[in-house]
Amino acid sequence: SAVEEASPEIIFRSKLPDIAIANTLPLHRYCFERLPEVADRPCLIDGATGAVRTYAEVDRLTRRLAAALRREPFGLARGAVVMNLMLNSAEFVLSFFAASRVGAAVTTANPMSTPHDIANQIAASGATVVFTESMAVDKLPARDGGLTVVLIDARRDGCLHFWDDVMASVPDDAGDQEAADDREFDPDDVVALPYSSGTTGLPKGVMLTHRSLSTSVAQQVDGDNPNIGFTADDVILCSLPMFHIYSLNTIMMCGLRVGAAIVVMRRFDLARMMELVERHRITIAPLVPPIVVAVAKSDQAAAHDLSSVRMVLSGAAPMGKDIEDAFMAKLPSAVLGQGYGMTEAGPVLSMCLAFAKEPFKVKSGACGTVVRNAELKIVDPDTGKSLGRNQPGEICIRGQQIMKGYLNNPEATKNSIDADGWLHTGDVGLVDDDDEIFIVDRLKEIIKYKGLQVAPAELEALLITHPSIMDAAVVGKQVEPEIGEIPVAFVAKAEGSELSEDDVKQFVAKEVIYYKKVREVIFVDKIPKAPSGKILRKELRKQLQQQNPQA
Ligand code: AMP
Repeated sequence: SAVEEASPEIIFRSKLPDIAIANTLPLHRYCFERLPEVADRPCLIDGATGAVRTYAEVDRLTRRLAAALRREPFGLARGAVVMNLMLNSAEFVLSFFAASRVGAAVTTANPMSTPHDIANQIAASGATVVFTESMAVDKLPARDGGLTVVLIDARRDGCLHFWDDVMASVPDDAGDQEAADDREFDPDDVVALPYSSGTTGLPKGVMLTHRSLSTSVAQQVDGDNPNIGFTADDVILCSLPMFHIYSLNTIMMCGLRVGAAIVVMRRFDLARMMELVERHRITIAPLVPPIVVAVAKSDQAAAHDLSSVRMVLSGAAPMGKDIEDAFMAKLPSAVLGQGYGMTEAGPVLSMCLAFAKEPFKVKSGACGTVVRNAELKIVDPDTGKSLGRNQPGEICIRGQQIMKGYLNNPEATKNSIDADGWLHTGDVGLVDDDDEIFIVDRLKEIIKYKGLQVAPAELEALLITHPSIMDAAVVGKQVEPEIGEIPVAFVAKAEGSELSEDDVKQFVAKEVIYYKKVREVIFVDKIPKAPSGKILRKELRKQLQQQNPQA
């Protein structure tokens, strides 16, 4: 069933049949489609205070905020860009869906980012409004008009307060009549604009449209036998940052789509997480490998009743069989499985079928089977030919869920999505006899520190600005599973320079967000390069491996 023999290409598909997907609706309508059935049920539960907002309340608040955003001083309309620069909160969800309602796109960013990165993303995305919190507000660029700042947790000169100024500026029912949301709407309008470096270079705006995100949500939770069997009775943990598309899509959008309750943790904290699982009888825990490891190793697990958890998803970075086994010993009642995502892919490419309503038996270490309504192929990176089962090659995906392209970057878009619509992931993997995908290597540059992206190009550009550094290259090094990979810098010093490893580390640490810090420095005479000038990263990775044979 999985291989289409007639096609000249070997294409893999889900074991679940395709479904009809209503992906021409605005995303907010799609996510809140079950509102009439779930209006009075809990939608967002604040992890810190326990405060509950029902679906009806969340829907009404997003309408009201949208009404405010249409008016002065915002005057937002279709095509506008808003930035969400915050940790998890109800306000994140409200501003996201309010922006969707007015036809704007939301560019998301980590509030721990440096002023430099924040300013760059604001300029590159064209954001005119920033929703943020006190921890980040002082890092925003100087505001000589053009940028309106909304603060969710404090009052500050030059900023509007989310509730007291913005929400209060319009009556409670301001949005109730504004059903005209879909005026001037196109399903291919961008609604989310996360930043990702993709397979190479610097971070770029990933244009995810109403169509791509509703397709992706449908591929996961829609249909009679959904790939992930979330239901309205589920209580879903949201401990992963919504500024990353994994959390925004698979937790938030999928959770809303099915009418589940979502427990919002401002940020991850192991002890708090366990308390919340017990207190709210959480049934679904979407995690990343470092957290899975933390739970597996924690001796607090036994002190809490975690038996309500029936499903644990892991994604964003590889997770080996050992970790899976150690985790299952702690939480035998749950099904643990992986999904495989990439921001550019909408983000979910594959999902564990043990999560299906009629679950399939799956192997540990696999990262799922390609989602339904999509095509996946494995390509020989040298010949471009598609490969059959059990042969590793570059994973490519095609379907309506993938990004529209990189913002204002047709060149990078063309290098990522080919003329036939295939998105090239830069991940090396294989599809086995049971349609399960195993990721075995990475062609692309990115380094994943605790599931977060580090773009070597960014660190290299920074390193060579140092007067004592002639040339530099950054590659990832496998370390303990709590972390995944760390950035290691190969540095060629300028002649006569006495630069030390610490000097280099400190120089970088001053300029970048914590997870992008260079953790190790190796001094070399010369950075190995191809005649084209391209850094030979493979050689550097090999050097690292020779130093640490177990890595
Ligand atoms: P991001 O765009 O930040 O989500 O990063 C996407 C990349 O993370 C993918 O292209 C993979 O390299 C990696 N990744 C995501 N999920 C998995 C997984 N389950 N196993 C291995 N690598 C993964």
